[in-house]
Amino acid sequence: MSAMVMVGAGHAAGQAAATLRQAGYEGELIILGDESHPPYQRPPLSKQYLSGEHGLEKVYLRPEKFYADRNIDLRTDTSVIKIDPANKSVTTSGGNTIDYEKLLIATGSRPRKLGIEGSDLEGVHYLRTIADVDVISTAMKSATNVCIVGGGYIGLEVASVAVVSGLQVNVLEMEERILQRVTTPEMSEFYHDLHTGRGVAIHVNTACSGFEGDGHVERVVCGETSIDTDLVIVGIGIIPNTELASDAGLTCDNGIVVDDHCVTSDPNIFAAGDCTNHPNPILDRRLRLESVPNAMEQARTAAANMAGGDKSYAAVPWFWSDQYELKLQMVGFSSDGDVQVVRGNKATNKFAVFYISNGAIVAVDAINSPREFMIAKQLYGKQVDVSQLADVNFDLKNLLQK
Ligand SMILES: Cc1cc2nc3c(=O)[nH]c(=O)nc-3n(C[C@H](O)[C@H](O)[C@H](O)COP(=O)(O)OP(=O)(O)OC[C@H]3O[C@@H](n4cnc5c(N)ncnc54)[C@H](O)[C@@H]3O)c2cc1C
Repeated sequence: MSAMVMVGAGHAAGQAAATLRQAGYEGELIILGDESHPPYQRPPLSKQYLSGEHGLEKVYLRPEKFYADRNIDLRTDTSVIKIDPANKSVTTSGGNTIDYEKLLIATGSRPRKLGIEGSDLEGVHYLRTIADVDVISTAMKSATNVCIVGGGYIGLEVASVAVVSGLQVNVLEMEERILQRVTTPEMSEFYHDLHTGRGVAIHVNTACSGFEGDGHVERVVCGETSIDTDLVIVGIGIIPNTELASDAGLTCDNGIVVDDHCVTSDPNIFAAGDCTNHPNPILDRRLRLESVPNAMEQARTAAANMAGGDKSYAAVPWFWSDQYELKLQMVGFSSDGDVQVVRGNKATNKFAVFYISNGAIVAVDAINSPREFMIAKQLYGKQVDVSQLADVNFDLKNLLQK
């Protein structure tokens, strides 16, 4: 019997392999990943791993021994260059051909690159992998200034680590506010004030037009002005890794198109994680998400179905971001709401903003408020009395009993 094969060794593949073994699948299980590490968590890369608080052992999803103990054939430094759906095989860059019974594509995504002058200078970095952070954290030790291009969650997390470690930090954002793509003007303003209060210089409406330096970056050019810097970290979004799938003839459209069972347009090929465009029956639309909960849950779904099960993926999207001592936990999309209800006091850095549409909760942003986050997750789509949400003396748990 040929194997269950996973392409990519990230969150989704690591979880899918573990789920298959937990479910009692005893056949051959092969993970092919092009990085040098076993499946690992990316969130700490811009947080605790960058700050030095966590070592590699805390970043790995599971200890390396886990795979050997369960007879999971984990092949790192192995890039898949071709999928042949007709012959049910994949080819690696080393020239090996591996047959599969079922295939999981979990190739994730890669950073969107800047195509401006000077982008190839030393000292201009992107942050996606352990290898990237190892280089960045060494560079941060000898730097005085760091310039972060892109005021999204990753850029702002890096800004918080950098400013706390004593660097002068500039954040360049081409839109009129940071986090514009992902949150409301009010939350953007909250984070803007938080960062500037800690000493980060944020430049909005500022497009970076080039980098200058003699071999190594020395200046970031923004039109007529420039900012001196020792180090640049670019965080301007990601591109899903769909090329293997599209070259194999699978349907792709802003991600590898899968159904609610994580099946691609080929019934023997599944896909999970950042690389997919999937239906969300709760939100009633297709999504491409860049989040750990999505990668993990899709992986569990794909694994169950690869083993012959009948599991659908239907979850309300959620995400988190850690900046300084603030943990932001989000459920749903704030853009789906037309009314905002604030619970708590923003000035204390402990509050939640509920987003309501037609009387029902459709999203929450909870800052240092894990209880509100947990309850909002369960109340998603339910009708609520907004005066109760806003009243900190009202126990939200009462709403769960309805
Ligand atoms: C710095 C950073 C911080 C983040 N913070 C958060 C957070 O706070 N909360 C949150 O929910 N999410 C966060 N994310 C997003 C989250 O990490 C991703 O959504 C998640 O890793 C997706 O998992 P995945 O398995 O789909 O892809 P990945 O984890 O990207 O794994 C895919 C793997 O496949 C490999 N691969 C690609 N092509 C091939 C090939 N042809 N052959 C072999 N291997 C291949 C890739 O190199 C990679 O190792 C963060 C991401 C980054 C980069």
